[in-house]
Amino acid sequence: IRRLEESVVNRIAAGEVIQRPFSAVKELVENSIDAGSTSISVVIKDGGLKLIQVSDNGHGIRFEDLPILCERHTTSKLSSYEDLQTINSLGFRGEALASMTFVAHVTVTTITEGQMHGYRVAYKDGVMEQEPRPCAAVKGTQITVENLFYNMVARRKSFKNPSDDYARIIDVISRYAIQKINVSFSCKKYGDSRVDVHTTSRIDAIRSVYGLGVARELVEITASDNEPSRSIFKMEGFISSANYSAKKTTMVLFINDRLVECTSLKRAIEVVYSAILPKASKPFIYMSISLPPEHVDVNVHPTKREVSLLNQESLVDCIQSAVEAKLMHSNITRTFSTQTIPSKKTVRTDSSNPAGRLHAYLASIRCAVRQRRNPKESADLTSIQMLTDAIDHSGLLDIVKHCTYVGMADDVLALVQHKTRLYLVNVVKLSRELMYQQVLRRFAHFNAVQLSNPASVFELLLIALDEEEQIAQLNVRLLKDKVEMLDEYFSLGIDQQGNLCTLPLVLDQYTPDMDRLPHFLWSLANDVDWDTEKECFESVAAALGNFYALHPPLLPNPNGEGLKFYQTNIDEDLVTEAKTAWDHREWRIQHVLFPSLKLFLNPPNHMANDGTFVQVACLENLYKIFERC
Ligand code: ADP
Ligand code: MG
Repeated sequence: IRRLEESVVNRIAAGEVIQRPFSAVKELVENSIDAGSTSISVVIKDGGLKLIQVSDNGHGIRFEDLPILCERHTTSKLSSYEDLQTINSLGFRGEALASMTFVAHVTVTTITEGQMHGYRVAYKDGVMEQEPRPCAAVKGTQITVENLFYNMVARRKSFKNPSDDYARIIDVISRYAIQKINVSFSCKKYGDSRVDVHTTSRIDAIRSVYGLGVARELVEITASDNEPSRSIFKMEGFISSANYSAKKTTMVLFINDRLVECTSLKRAIEVVYSAILPKASKPFIYMSISLPPEHVDVNVHPTKREVSLLNQESLVDCIQSAVEAKLMHSNITRTFSTQTIPSKKTVRTDSSNPAGRLHAYLASIRCAVRQRRNPKESADLTSIQMLTDAIDHSGLLDIVKHCTYVGMADDVLALVQHKTRLYLVNVVKLSRELMYQQVLRRFAHFNAVQLSNPASVFELLLIALDEEEQIAQLNVRLLKDKVEMLDEYFSLGIDQQGNLCTLPLVLDQYTPDMDRLPHFLWSLANDVDWDTEKECFESVAAALGNFYALHPPLLPNPNGEGLKFYQTNIDEDLVTEAKTAWDHREWRIQHVLFPSLKLFLNPPNHMANDGTFVQVACLENLYKIFERC
């Protein structure tokens, strides 16, 4: 064993801090930001290998500090270890400049406030090559790094493609440009007059860096939490709406103004988008999170790229829900805005313009609905035909027809395999849609199921309405008005005494969960649009669909999480009842629901994007991973 020479140790360490040209740029730009600059310009030659020059208008470096400026572990930003807990500057290790001098030729020109002239000095291996020379200078500091990795032949050779490194440099500067809206950034290639990054406002920065396509589709997002038992943070940012999609996720993340990565947050957000965007399309995300400095450990990664956070999980959860809520909302606004465009614009002749087609389509629907206003003419029941036609078949049909049920993954998600892919499918959504389609299919031709004990509609509504007698009475009156129609078309029978006595047989050998009867009647009285024929049939079918769907039983699941509920309140019968209900449901999912889905369901397109079907794995890829183990 031999002790390595210090210069070797330093060069190895330097190679870790400065891994590629862009890491040098990042450190230099961070130093300029730490120096309070409002303008930072970067010039690059040969992807950064020949030259990196960063000029700023910050506070400059004092003459007395120049001799130790580039020594390892010299910094103006930290004096004790405790300071690290509350550090606000981007740098703190005093390693970056030193490292650069071990793997490149570094020259510093700087001037501080109130000085007549500045100083210029070159550094090698941590020390000045000669005394600083007075020179003319403008406010701030200019640092040039030349011939990066001149003494690391292998490393230098690994950067074959300068344009690739230039792109990374642009990327890192752009990210800071988005975050630091009070600093103007520019970056260009040496000798070029074209500036590749140049920014003013935040959206402007995003537009100029990532393109108009992104900037147009951004929605603002904020989230925060102030509960010490969960997490304390504030987040603001911009995320792309469901209209935007790219091949790769761009996530620009700042935590306490520090450009970092957080894989778990990125994944959590991608999950939300994967439920909304078409397969293989990815979002753009910019987020700036601030939390108490003592909740962030900035010192977990050699290039400070990753940080660890206190209560990370709860913070990620909270942001994930915010993104979800935002995207739902932005979808609604989008639909809404397409419908409120002035009517003269809806007549488009350009058939290749999808917006034109959409308007034509909406117009025809509205017109059709208007024509069908008069129920007397409805004997031909074209509205049912229209509702059936509105279900657009999709690529999901093949999955539904040929999948194999694997098992339940939790209370609502089942795991199924189709060819070499595994999917999580939402059985509540699937069964609801199946029942809805069945209602349309059997419309006016139902076999009725007789209730052995006719149940008072009034009593049931009282349950649903939490004993609000008057409202229950109103609802009963409303339903009594519709008795004939409900019976004729849906085999929903209510007798003279106001008792519910028949239900439609929506799926053979299947009866709905009677615990949901009160809610169903309530929904029938309150969610149905009785005024227009098509809407009326649609909403009755939807209410039936929801009633017949395979919801989790109302009793908590004693086989899983719900067990806690029973321990404080030991009632053997209740536990047995719950067990039976859950086991029965699982049996029905496997033996009734899935076989019926194969026969009868036309899965509508939206199911690919609304979380009904989520691909969780592709077996080929899994096998590849297993092979490596
Ligand atoms: P750190 O940023 O971790 O302190 P560096 O090696 O990056 O370490 O920088 C060492 C010191 O040099 C900094 O603490 C700062 O005082 C000074 N410095 C570096 N760059 C600049 C700059 N552009 N303007 C003013 N001071 C600078
Ligand atoms: Mg630094």
